[in-house]
Amino acid sequence: MTVIDSLLAALATGEVEIIDLTAPLSPDTPVLQLPSPFANTIPLSLEKVSDFDADGPFWGWNNIHTGEHTGTHLDAPAHWVTGRDGHTVDTIPPSRLVGPAVVLDFTAEVAEDPDFLLEPEHFEKHVADNGPLPDGAWLVFRTGWSRFNRDAVAFANADGDGPHTPGVSAEGAQWLAASGITGFAVETVGVDAGQAGGLEPPFPVHHFLLGADKFGLTQLQNLDRVPATGAVIVASPLPIVGGTGSPARVFAIVPA
Ligand code: MN
Repeated sequence: MTVIDSLLAALATGEVEIIDLTAPLSPDTPVLQLPSPFANTIPLSLEKVSDFDADGPFWGWNNIHTGEHTGTHLDAPAHWVTGRDGHTVDTIPPSRLVGPAVVLDFTAEVAEDPDFLLEPEHFEKHVADNGPLPDGAWLVFRTGWSRFNRDAVAFANADGDGPHTPGVSAEGAQWLAASGITGFAVETVGVDAGQAGGLEPPFPVHHFLLGADKFGLTQLQNLDRVPATGAVIVASPLPIVGGTGSPARVFAIVPA
C-alpha cells in the first residue's frame, strides 16, 4: 500500500478528516481598514453577468471584485517592503504551502487582553515541551478571534487608538523569522497585532517574516478542531501573476 493509498483509506474510514479553516467570503467579510491618508482595498462584491436570463439562458456567472487581501488569504513576501524582491504569490513553490501544523492556543490570554502579544518565551516554552518546530511548519496562533468574523465591528475591536487585536512582539517576530517555519497563521484580519503600527519596527510580523521569505495566513476559523501537533495544513492561494497575496482556501488534514 502506498502512502497515498493509506491516506485515501483513512479518509474513507474517517480516521483522517479534512477541516475547512476558511472563513466565508462575502461582501460582509471584514477587511482591513487603514486610517487616512493610506489607501484601502475593496471588499468582495459579485457583479452579475447572467442568471439564467436573456444574458445567459442556461447559465449563471458573475464577475468578482475584491482586493488581494480579503478574507482568509495568504500574504506573499512581495507584500512588504522588506520582501518586495521576493516571491509573489504565483511563484511560491506549492510544496511550501503544505506543511505540518503547530497550533499555539492562547484563547484564554486573549480573552483577558485583546492586545496580547506572543514573545520569544512563548515559542521557547513550546519547544521545551514539544521539541523543535518542524521545518516547513505552519505556526498557527489560535486566539478564538474567529468567533467575531461575521461582525466587522467586533472583529476590528477598534477605539480612538485603532484596532485592538492580538499579535506578536518585534522580538517574537524576529524569533519566528529565524526559525524553519514556512509561515505564521492567525484568526485576525492580518498577521500583525491591531496596535502593531506603534511597535518598532512597525508591523514586525510583516517586516521580519515576509522579509525572510515566509508567508502569512489570515482569518482562519475552526482551529478548535485542529490538534496542537499532528495535523497538516494545505493553503491554496490563487496564482495571481505578480500578486502580493490572494484569497485562499485553507484545509487542515487531521487525525479523527
Ligand atoms: Mn494581507
